[in-house]
Amino acid sequence: AGARPSVAIIGGGIIGLAIGWRLAAAGCRVDIFEKGRAGQGASHAAAGMLAAGAEAEPGEQRLLPLCLESRSRWRGFAAELEAASGQPVGLRDEGTLIVALTRDDVEVMRVNHQFQRGLGIESHWLTGAQVKELEPFLTPRAVAGVLSPLDNQVDNRRATAALRVAFERAGGRLHEDSPVEAVDAEAGRVRGVVVGGRAHAADMVVLAAGAWSRQIAGLPAAAVPPVRPVKGQLLSVAMDPAAPLLRHVLWAPKCYMVPRADGTLIIGGTTEEKGWDDSLTAGGVLAMLEGAWRTLPGIEELRISEMWTGFRPGSRDDAPLLGPVAGVDGLVLATGHHRNGILLTPVTADLVAGFILTGRQDPLMQPFGLDRFAATAAAA
Ligand code: FAD
Repeated sequence: AGARPSVAIIGGGIIGLAIGWRLAAAGCRVDIFEKGRAGQGASHAAAGMLAAGAEAEPGEQRLLPLCLESRSRWRGFAAELEAASGQPVGLRDEGTLIVALTRDDVEVMRVNHQFQRGLGIESHWLTGAQVKELEPFLTPRAVAGVLSPLDNQVDNRRATAALRVAFERAGGRLHEDSPVEAVDAEAGRVRGVVVGGRAHAADMVVLAAGAWSRQIAGLPAAAVPPVRPVKGQLLSVAMDPAAPLLRHVLWAPKCYMVPRADGTLIIGGTTEEKGWDDSLTAGGVLAMLEGAWRTLPGIEELRISEMWTGFRPGSRDDAPLLGPVAGVDGLVLATGHHRNGILLTPVTADLVAGFILTGRQDPLMQPFGLDRFAATAAAA
């Protein structure tokens, strides 16, 4: 282990923890610095959909191979994580059901379905009657559907909590209430990070600070990741776990619903460009509840458990920023995962840890470097 680099990770969300776990397990000295409590950022706010297939729409080709690869790694990742942490992560494998309520919805669904089939993504067209057979409590207005059987879900809060345990069991050190003020870099090479005015030395620094990733000082302008907060509002209601109203992840025209095994039904979600405004709004909640109620009328009887907001880390093209940065040796980015960060956790952890351990970039990671924005940087 003596030859392994020491690593400082900025951010204790699902991405920082997963990379930290992989590196600590490989024998690196790893310190994660978290400004608040680990796992309370976007990783807490997410719905946990692993929707690589259903989300594939014309125009998003760059991201698709990474999403499909990560989706295929989730089962093994979850099993390994549960064994390493001794905690369940709530992976459910009923798949995702997309429903259409109007003829317009049917046409949009048909275009996306044909596009996905053309790419070899497993997805099945269903009649209204078949939809009702799968989910009997859906509105009678559900006229057709598509089942995307490999788009599963994980309980992101449990997964993040398990990663924290696995990371610490592997020997990693987690420092909470420890905001990183700056990357300590000199002559084009990192020396570590600055935390609470004190320098912490490390061979490599991983920037995994989610929506906050551009706020860390000490980097030349060209190395600052262009990440912005993309606000999302979500809420949850409590189903009877013995007789749940829904079992599949459901995509309706105006909302999505994610049923957890304990009966929690997550209803989401808004996507808003509002900077750091974290307010729950009447309009946001109304839109989500109305969309959900039109699809699954029985929710009107259910108790609201929770309402919350979070910030997706959106990059300039909404694809993640992964890997080394020209001009700052030792700095590695793992941010900008936007609405796919839970889905992309296994592949991100493997690719980023693999790069740190071997110095080689996997071809899967290469399209996601910061350098893809170099040509447009001046215009930004
Ligand atoms: P975060 O979890 O935000 O972690 C970043 C951490 O860095 C935070 O804990 C923060 O406190 C810390 N930090 C920031 N600055 C500093 C600093 N200076 N020093 C130290 N620590 C710092 N993805 C999916 O795949 N499926 C979904 O269904 C899904 N639904 C979503 C729904 C909503 C409403 C939202 C908001 C997101 C959703 N996402 C989903 C996206 C997913 O949540 C994110 O992409 C993912 O959690 C990003 O993980 P992260 O670790 O990079 O960010």
